[in-house]
Amino acid sequence: MRTLWLVSALAGWAGLPVVEALAQARPPIIDVHMHAHHAPFDLPGGAPGPCRPSPCQPQGRATATAAESFQKTMEAMDRYNIVKGFLSGADLDLVQQWAAQAPGRFIASPWVMEAGKPALDSLRRGYTAGRWGGMGEIAGPLTGLAPNDPALAPYFALAAEFDVPVSIHTAGIGPPLPGFRAAAGSPLLLEDVLVRHPNLRVFVENAGYPYLDEMIAMMYQYPNLYGDLSTMTWVIPRSAFHTYLKALIQAGLGKRLMFGSDQMRWPEMIGKAIEAIETADFLTAEQKRDIFYNNAVRFLRLGSASAGRRER
Ligand SMILES: [Zn+2]
Repeated sequence: MRTLWLVSALAGWAGLPVVEALAQARPPIIDVHMHAHHAPFDLPGGAPGPCRPSPCQPQGRATATAAESFQKTMEAMDRYNIVKGFLSGADLDLVQQWAAQAPGRFIASPWVMEAGKPALDSLRRGYTAGRWGGMGEIAGPLTGLAPNDPALAPYFALAAEFDVPVSIHTAGIGPPLPGFRAAAGSPLLLEDVLVRHPNLRVFVENAGYPYLDEMIAMMYQYPNLYGDLSTMTWVIPRSAFHTYLKALIQAGLGKRLMFGSDQMRWPEMIGKAIEAIETADFLTAEQKRDIFYNNAVRFLRLGSASAGRRER
């Protein structure tokens, strides 16, 4: 509170808007799991966000339009000093549009949910032209497609060829789609991919939740495998998130976990996601900085100077 008062006073004195000054007072954050609006697009504005396990109390109100999603996401990024977001989404044009509207703030990356879509030749053109900086979220388990399915092999090969980081939905939970298969989200199914592409940088949604043992095995064996802490910060009970995170930390994996909000159409959850990590009393201040920023700088190969600068 004292800090808030001081920042407000200094901001007023310097002629800065208070929000701007507050953002500058917060250390930088990198959000490795963001979506440009995102499906389902026909979900009515105001609909609550997902929660697990049922029965549970859903939170939040969905944005109504892509423009509202962009505006509220940018407001949250400014408020919390999120200097960079790894951005994907089912509407690839919209992902490119957001990246163009906020230069330097996003790493644009194509969403892949079905084999052959998006087409590999169009992706290749995008990487060659520098329009895409990552691969995925690869959301294969949402349609029952496991990471080691041959249909996905060309996507991993393309990411390896262009040496871009890969985001993959390898976790036991996901949206209630008819094709979703929890079994397709086992982190062990990534092994063939990581053996074939030992230099490929892959990060797994929700650090493979709830497949803890499998995820630890894979992260011990494959040093380029990281995990994000995204939807689990606000969709599942806070106690379940903290228990899982604590187990990963105790396993010695604190240098390989990265913050993500997976805000989808609930940008207000960006703040909730940050709070879920800030309130983890078993984390040291250094471990929190690693999760919010340092690990992503290393994984995404952002120079800390350029990653910390708010380009506009
Ligand atoms: Zn996602």
